[in-house]
Amino acid sequence: MSSTDRGNDYDADVAVIGLGAIGSSAAWRLAARGLDVLGFEQFEPGHAWGGSTGKTRLFRVACLEHPGLTPIARRARELWRELETSSGERLFFETGGLMIGPPDSHIIEGTLRAADAHDLPVERLDADEIARRFPARARLDPGDVGVWDPEAGLVRPEAAIVAAVDAARAAGARIHTNTHVIEVEPDDDGVTIRTDDAEYRVRHVAVTSGPWITRFVPELPLTPHRVVMTWFRARDGRNANLDVLPVFIRSVPGRDTWIWGHGAMPGIHAGDSDGFDDLDGFDVKVGPDFDGPFADDDPDAIDRDIHPGETDEIRDLVAATFPDVDPEPSGVTTCIMTHSPDRQFVVGPTAHPRVVVGGGCSGHSFKHASALGELVAQSVVGEQAFTDAGFLDPRRFA
Ligand SMILES: Cc1cc2nc3c(=O)[nH]c(=O)nc-3n(C[C@H](O)[C@H](O)[C@H](O)COP(=O)(O)OP(=O)(O)OC[C@H]3O[C@@H](n4cnc5c(N)ncnc54)[C@H](O)[C@@H]3O)c2cc1C
Repeated sequence: MSSTDRGNDYDADVAVIGLGAIGSSAAWRLAARGLDVLGFEQFEPGHAWGGSTGKTRLFRVACLEHPGLTPIARRARELWRELETSSGERLFFETGGLMIGPPDSHIIEGTLRAADAHDLPVERLDADEIARRFPARARLDPGDVGVWDPEAGLVRPEAAIVAAVDAARAAGARIHTNTHVIEVEPDDDGVTIRTDDAEYRVRHVAVTSGPWITRFVPELPLTPHRVVMTWFRARDGRNANLDVLPVFIRSVPGRDTWIWGHGAMPGIHAGDSDGFDDLDGFDVKVGPDFDGPFADDDPDAIDRDIHPGETDEIRDLVAATFPDVDPEPSGVTTCIMTHSPDRQFVVGPTAHPRVVVGGGCSGHSFKHASALGELVAQSVVGEQAFTDAGFLDPRRFA
């Protein structure tokens, strides 16, 4: 398919470079608006080599990172639900989530700031209430308090990406998987995209290449770095499933640090799950605060081996926090996080009028990814954004 505009021939209205968390949804939301979309992904959608592997991602509505993220989380949830319907896959679990820490900690203050700004139905818990309602996490420091976010939960990253790519295809997008883009060259009239074996001319480009984003937009101050993800099992005879250990971000007793994660979930059979497909279960997941400084790792050369001693710290933090969890990891893998200097994403226009970006995960973007894809689409077509996303404007670092 091609179209002509002021003497220019185009292969598509827009190319989306990288179909991971944000790009898969950007392609879907662009195609759903009737645009002619070309999507490029260097691997198979849902692969393990970018920022979106590991079975689960925490979802929160009372977003401690910025109150402006709450409307984005809510729009994302609507879109995850749409993708559940179109794919027949369960993608989103609402478990509720508990944030724990000292009253003046970033975890508590940030969560309450978002809750107050949007009048969210959170509950404020003192230490006694936490101990009574959540005995599995009763190890607290004196003075710790909790905030219960009933809208928190989990999203399944790999399945959600596959569902979004399928939805993009169904809406008419032409998707090239296992296709490596080597060059993105914008000019006044359009953008030339070069892959290993072809060249395309498009009106606009959305660069959503995650840890690889600075290959195409080098002015973005983003740092990709290797992280290790760990899973754990309940001690013999104990319960550490999601019903007693829903989503959490919390301080660690006796330590000046915090951890995030969730309980285990047994597999679900199709017959038990309201018409959804079978679903493999997962173990307890716990991760440390990634506080930097961050090595600027080459995403093509990430060390995928796990080395002796690498899980010692998280094992120690789990032992200090959860009496019912065996601190010996049951599973370990590597993933790539891409940090921005202010820990917010980069979503929207760049200095070049034909280039829009979506990325800068900073460790908390998956929950929002479907809605960030929508913001990318709105930026490409020049539509009013569904919420004020000025704090994510990539040009703030210029
Ligand atoms: C350990 C860890 C824990 C996290 N926990 C949470 C959490 O609990 N909750 C939460 O909301 N978020 C969390 N995040 C963040 C979230 O997972 C990431 O923000 C998000 O997955 C990144 O999405 P992305 O679209 O920017 O990148 P990706 O999903 O990595 O997508 C980029 C895509 O671009 C493709 N690509 C790159 N270069 C090219 C090229 N040249 N040609 C073609 N394709 C290309 C890549 O192959 C990839 O598929 C976590 C991240 C990590 C690492």
